[in-house]
Amino acid sequence: MHLTGTHIAYLHTCHRKLWLFANGIQMEHNSEMVAEGKLIAETTYLDRARKYTELAIEGIKIDFYDAKEKVVHEVKKSDKVEHAHKAQVIYYLYILHKNGINEPSAIIEYPKLKQREIINWDDDFITLGRDWEEEALEIIRLEGCPKLIRKSICKKCSYYELCYIDEI
Ligand code: SF4
Repeated sequence: MHLTGTHIAYLHTCHRKLWLFANGIQMEHNSEMVAEGKLIAETTYLDRARKYTELAIEGIKIDFYDAKEKVVHEVKKSDKVEHAHKAQVIYYLYILHKNGINEPSAIIEYPKLKQREIINWDDDFITLGRDWEEEALEIIRLEGCPKLIRKSICKKCSYYELCYIDEI
């Protein structure tokens, strides 16, 4: 199975979310937040769609890739910088490197925060990428769904109602 950037982001957010998503229970497409994120990506970065290439390679899909400079541009709707965003983008760089692109880099854009984070290539991404793949696949193949994490992020999660059905 090919992993996607979403799998890697969920690995760094909640193992239960990763398991639910990977095992076919997908509620994210109904989420208003995803729609809002798409809108931000489509409006704020309309020009980029013309300038940059969309790239699908192994399981990953990169919306804005600057092939000349070997730079991934990732847009996040979030109003805070999250570790999971960085992990997802590092995974993209690992896959690009694995497919013959030498030392790719990335820029994560946060339009709501008017901030950007630059991620330069690091050889450690090779080990990180491999380890995350292994860990994610181990979780996905578990017989049962991992436990609730009971954190504040649950309230914004598309699986909230499913996870807390007995409590709401
Ligand atoms: S609601 Fe919480 S425990 Fe359930 S999948 Fe989402 S983040 Fe994980």
